[in-house]
Amino acid sequence: MQNCVYEFGDSIYINLTNACSNSCDFCIRNFKEGVGGSELWLEYDPSAAEVEDELGKYDLSRYRSAVFCGFGEPTCAFGVLLEVAGWLKERGIRTRVNTNGQANLINGITDAAARMRPVIDSVSVSLNASTAEKYQAVCHSVYGEEGYQAMLDFVEDCVHEGIETVVSVVDLIGEQEVEACRRVAESLGAEFRVRPAITADEEY
Ligand code: SF4
Repeated sequence: MQNCVYEFGDSIYINLTNACSNSCDFCIRNFKEGVGGSELWLEYDPSAAEVEDELGKYDLSRYRSAVFCGFGEPTCAFGVLLEVAGWLKERGIRTRVNTNGQANLINGITDAAARMRPVIDSVSVSLNASTAEKYQAVCHSVYGEEGYQAMLDFVEDCVHEGIETVVSVVDLIGEQEVEACRRVAESLGAEFRVRPAITADEEY
């Protein structure tokens, strides 16, 4: 059975796809096979029914939240994400999506945040850089520098929709750049977080 659901910390994680519109230099997929002892390369993208069957094997009341955080970009499987998130909300489970914020470009839509609002409680968006140029230099979006602006617009939309919105950077970018990113986050009305980078030496 491939690992589309796994435990990590005090949450249950959902791995919907290995597809991504970015190819970040620091991506964990460049040097690890998974997280928390679970191998996360998928043979195929699971259907909503398969993910729900798998989730049904767990006592979901034990977890603080359910987090969509693939070994890839969860909004590349946007339909399945919304369906599974709705299934979780029906069971009173708190939901979060960790995302690169490019859902609108990926899915050819303009209202990703509005579609997420009924079933997603919080989003964590990887900001990664303070300008489109710097972002593209490390994240290599298939959309070029447009990917950065789409991510900023998505963050603003999520804040506007009342979704708890955190933007984050990894702690490798230097103090000045962290502060520049903090100002970008504040200008969008989002919370800001600096997260530790996962290194090749750490156990998974
Ligand atoms: S957006 Fe996330 S999954 Fe995609 S390449 Fe970057 S770090 Fe990896």
